[in-house]
Amino acid sequence: MKRILAGNWKMNLLLAEARALFDEVAAGLRGRGDLACVLFPPATLLAPLAAALREGDPRLGAQNCHFEPKGAFTGEISAEQARDAGASHVLVGHSERRRLFCESDPIARQKLQAAWRAGLKPVLCVGETLAERERRETRDVLARQLRRALEGAPSRAPLWVAYEPVWAIGTGVVATAEEVAEAHEWVREELTLAGRGAAGAAGNEVPILYGGSVDAKNAGPLARTPGVDGFLVGGASLKAASFLEIARHLAAGPPD
Ligand code: PEP
Repeated sequence: MKRILAGNWKMNLLLAEARALFDEVAAGLRGRGDLACVLFPPATLLAPLAAALREGDPRLGAQNCHFEPKGAFTGEISAEQARDAGASHVLVGHSERRRLFCESDPIARQKLQAAWRAGLKPVLCVGETLAERERRETRDVLARQLRRALEGAPSRAPLWVAYEPVWAIGTGVVATAEEVAEAHEWVREELTLAGRGAAGAAGNEVPILYGGSVDAKNAGPLARTPGVDGFLVGGASLKAASFLEIARHLAAGPPD
């Protein structure tokens, strides 16, 4: 399995800035067959970036989609529209969507179904809040989020999972290697036991990414943490230099 580097640009960048960043990242990753890179720009930038895609460039993903294919949902975009604009992937259940836009596990489940219907590969984000971690509920939270989101998932449906502890996203506080390894093991167990039985052929076919304040400085140890198949990077994906440095650490490989 190739290691995965995903960049979530969130609500940042205008077209000219986005083109420049995309080109710099694409040039820096050219010939890096050992990594799969997907960038998640704001929806307005998908089509213009997709129009200029070249062989071997990073893929493009949408940060969100509605679960209905079309209709009276002012301000939303469907998975089909994201696909039509050039996305191959879509984030589902990102903690900012859960926290700021009240998205629940059942909504995440509907969005997964929409992604598969439209031919997009969903990246399901799961993770506990600080209060939940302090109450030692992390394992239960991850199990609940995965079970509810993957309920009824078609077998062999393509899926990536991102473990993103809410307290580490955009805060500069990064989970320790031990915390990440433990959480990834729980996610893997849950996928294999329950969700993955329904969502695909074998538990270990679903890559599990870590996300939460990954940067050029902490990426090395995290990239060597057991169970980490890649990263979902927010803030540090907005600068080509830091993103490419993270790529270098990731490509240096998993632990022996
Ligand atoms: C994210 O948005 O998924 C994320 C992990 O952000 P950051 O790297 O900025 O914490």
